[in-house]
This record gives sequence, C-alpha cells and structure tokens, in this order.
Amino acid sequence: MTGLTESQKNRLTELGLSAEELPGDFETIADREKYFKQREKGLVAKNRQILNRLLTETHQPALCQLQFQLAQTLCANGFTQVTTPTIISRKFLDRMTIDGTHPLNEQVFWLDSKSCLRPMLAPNLYSVSKDLMNVAKLPLRVFEIGSCFRKESEGKSHLKEFTMLNLVEWGTPMEERGKRLEELGRLVLDAAGIMDYATEAENSVVYGDGLDFVGADGLELASTSMGPHPLDAAWKINCTWVGIGFGLERLLMYREHQQGIHRHSRSISFLDGARLNIK
Ligand code: ATP
Ligand code: MG
Repeated sequence: MTGLTESQKNRLTELGLSAEELPGDFETIADREKYFKQREKGLVAKNRQILNRLLTETHQPALCQLQFQLAQTLCANGFTQVTTPTIISRKFLDRMTIDGTHPLNEQVFWLDSKSCLRPMLAPNLYSVSKDLMNVAKLPLRVFEIGSCFRKESEGKSHLKEFTMLNLVEWGTPMEERGKRLEELGRLVLDAAGIMDYATEAENSVVYGDGLDFVGADGLELASTSMGPHPLDAAWKINCTWVGIGFGLERLLMYREHQQGIHRHSRSISFLDGARLNIK
C-alpha cells in the first residue's frame, strides 16, 4: 500500500483539490501514478478554463469586480469613498493604543522607527473623517477599500497582505447602532453574493466587545465596532458611530466555497482563483 507523495499532494491542492478530496492509499505505485496523472490533468484543465474566461470574457479578477460592486453599492447608499496611504506613522498606531506592548504590535511590518505598512484602515479613516466633519453635517458616511498588512502565522484564512473594506457611519443615533450594524453588514454581504452568515459576539484587542459577521462554518467575515469609544478622544471625535471591517479575500473564499484564501489574494502564483503555473 502506498499514498500520494508530499509533492503530489501539494500539486493537487495548489490546483484546487481540497484536503478532504485527497485519496487514501493505493495498492501499487503504478495505481498511484495513474491516479495522480489523471487528477492533475483534470485540474489543470479546470484552472486553464478559469484563466481563459478571465482573458476572453470577464477581463477582471473577482477581487477587482467585488471591490467595484461594493464601492458602487455603498456610494448608492450615501457613503463616500476615500483613498489614503498604505504607509502610516507610528503616531497613528499609538493613537489606536497599538504601542510596543500591544499584541497587534508584533504583527506590524515596520519600515523604519517612525512608519509602517498599515495593519488596518481605521487610523486614516478617523483622521480623514475628523477633517470632513468640518465641512459636512452628521450623519457622515465614509469607506475605504485598500491593502492592509499583518505578520500572520499564515494559514488557510490569513494573508500577510489582504484587502480590507472599512466603512464607518458617524452620527448614528445611539439607540439605532445595533440595528444599523446589522443593516450595513447585510447591505455589503448581499452585494458580495453572501446570504448564508450569522452574527456572533466577539472581543477585539483594539475595540473591545463587538459583533462579528461569520460564515456558516464559523469563518470570520467582518468585525464591527461602535462609539462613543475610548479611542475617539485621541482623534477629537465625540459623536456616536458604527463601523465594520470586511476582508474581501475572505468574502471570496467563502462565497466560492474554497479551502484556501490564497487563490484570490494579490499573488503571482494565483490569478482570479486559478493556479498560474499550468502547462
Ligand atoms: P482573525 O481573528 O480572523 O485573525 P481579526 O479579528 O484579527 O481576524 P479584524 O481586525 O477584525 O481581523 O479585521 C477585519 C476583517 O479583515 C476580518 O473579519 C477578516 O475578514 C479580515 N482579515 C483580518 N486579518 C486578515 C488576514 N490576515 N488575512 C485576510 N483577511 C483578514
Ligand atoms: Mg475581528
């Protein structure tokens, strides 16, 4: 009896086979090789089909389409999109209380002693919103979609670079915050084609107690927060608010029933859910 080699298993999983679909032992090595060749051929054809569809029909990977759809949906619902830098200052992280002793500090990609790649969109959103409040009346609704960076011990649902959508509504009436979070979560998840999800209480290291949107399998799709919040004072913000952060690659992985998040990540190995090195 013999099983697939590690490199055969790796090849089949990178081509899209889930760990559960990997076969058990074979009677002979010849049986194993025959299975591997056939399976690989079928999967290569499937990946080729995805890339062909991208090149001839859609011309835009699902990640880009999703960003576009979600931005359109939010803009049609009174939100304004903002674009802010990926490089942020230590001062901004300090204001989020992410200092040297904070658990998230370990996950930050520092560029030098004063700047890092943003691990979240919230500091820039706080900053831009505060300025916009000088020209706008509440409620003020803003969102950003952009890359965030965290040193993660990798895994099926974590990337070092991922795409966050963070929306915030400043001025939500105090008693409507919970209901509004549910509404806004549904708005974005519906627009992403995700109907099968639940909400779950969660304790965040930055925001404290909050609510998460999770997939049917328990995968965290989004985290929410609300204010007034102790962090607000550092940004001179003093209104009620609600906010939600979604990971777009997570949404795609969940919607497409895929095992690994890498297929839809910013990558030179995968494009639009397909493995690139196929011949
Ligand atoms: P987790 O507990 O899954 O590590 P988190 O609670 O640290 O996530 P948040 O700070 O709440 O993450 O970020 C908001 C959303 O961004 C998450 O719900 C998830 O969808 C996404 N996200 C966070 N970290 C990553 C990552 N490393 N790779 C991909 N998506 C991520
Ligand atoms: Mg979270």
